[in-house]
Amino acid sequence: MPQRATKRGAERTPLDRDCDVLICGASFAGLAIARELAASGADVLVVDRYEIGERQTSACGIPTGWLDALDLRESLQQTFGELVIHTPHATVRYKLPWTFSTFDYRTLCGLLWDRLPPTHFEFETAKVDGRTGEVVHTDRGDIRAPLIVDALGWRRVLGAADNIQPPDALLSRGLEVHPFGPGQEMEVWIDRSYVPAGYGWSFPAGGELRIGVGSFDPRFHVREPTERLARDLDADRVRYQGNWIPHALRPAVEDGVFFAGDSAGHCLPLTAEGIRTALYFGLACGRELRMVIEGRQTREQALERYGAFSASHARPFRWMLRVQRLIPRIAPRALAAGLRAIDRQRFIDWSFGHYLAVAHPDFVRAAPRATASRAAATGIVRA
Ligand SMILES: Cc1cc2nc3c(=O)[nH]c(=O)nc-3n(C[C@H](O)[C@H](O)[C@H](O)COP(=O)(O)OP(=O)(O)OC[C@H]3O[C@@H](n4cnc5c(N)ncnc54)[C@H](O)[C@@H]3O)c2cc1C
Repeated sequence: MPQRATKRGAERTPLDRDCDVLICGASFAGLAIARELAASGADVLVVDRYEIGERQTSACGIPTGWLDALDLRESLQQTFGELVIHTPHATVRYKLPWTFSTFDYRTLCGLLWDRLPPTHFEFETAKVDGRTGEVVHTDRGDIRAPLIVDALGWRRVLGAADNIQPPDALLSRGLEVHPFGPGQEMEVWIDRSYVPAGYGWSFPAGGELRIGVGSFDPRFHVREPTERLARDLDADRVRYQGNWIPHALRPAVEDGVFFAGDSAGHCLPLTAEGIRTALYFGLACGRELRMVIEGRQTREQALERYGAFSASHARPFRWMLRVQRLIPRIAPRALAAGLRAIDRQRFIDWSFGHYLAVAHPDFVRAAPRATASRAAATGIVRA
């Protein structure tokens, strides 16, 4: 049984405080932002409704280069050099130009958090309910900060408009089971008998399998196909994990708030890969915030620059959304023929190279060096 670590009842004391930066959401995007603020000297508060690493939000598959770039290899569970795609009429096996790995969510989040200086970083479990200007309302009280980040996932809780609601929003749905068992291959099923528009997957993770189905159409329920895929693979239907997954970019800044990860629609359409993009845009957001803390730009400049940075990625996101919409319209036999036809190493290297470049691990090293300098001039950092 999973252990609940989140504080309950009397442990949940009232929360009423100020900080320089409030990061709402302690998963991939939120922790990447915190990482960039580590040496800024800012007083940072991170809140999440669960303890850090308590509630896994995905199958935890990522290009291995990202684990290396962030020095997170300790969380790595299994590595794959090939992608196996099954369709009703063909199985193809692509040798990837870079490897993909599964990792342990709790370990990865713990590593990111433990590297932050405890003198400046605090974590509180609280459910974020909304915001009025620079005041964020939680179920434990109000928190005030001049720099506020929504890294809360697809709900975009701190957005100015009404919360984005399924099934009408541009969201996919995904559900997986986590049976124990060995596996050697990273496998994907594009098969209408499981899901009319979407795909199934099996990601082995060092003694556990993450078997799931994702539907690009939010009205299509995925519980039955997920269970059927698990049954077809002779795997137990246990330890369910599911969520909505955005498949379109949303503005990364709005009404003075920064959004990163799923809250900004940073998950890639077609593949529903949203971890490395949450890390990537989280790093970018954190760097802009750090420059505010250091007095090198104003909050308004940071909002403008980060918003423009996110929007500058619209093209690959648009393209992938087009392909996501196209694939379900291709007849299964034609799809099988197409997948076989592109099985040329040069084409695979080229296409997967471009795919990685949308959020490349080199971005981690591109960081300007953090400085501990602080400037009261911004009025944001207290002396
Ligand atoms: C079944 C499934 C499998 C997936 N597999 C993969 C995969 O293998 N690889 C990949 O790259 N992507 C995968 N994804 C997509 C990926 O999970 C997301 O894109 C990614 O988690 C986004 O990171 P994030 O930090 O923006 O948000 P999240 O990881 O969703 O984190 C949001 C955080 O906010 C907290 N939170 C939410 N609401 C509140 C609130 N009101 N108050 C306080 N805290 C709150 C949550 O507890 C959570 O910690 C998968 C998605 C699903 C549904």
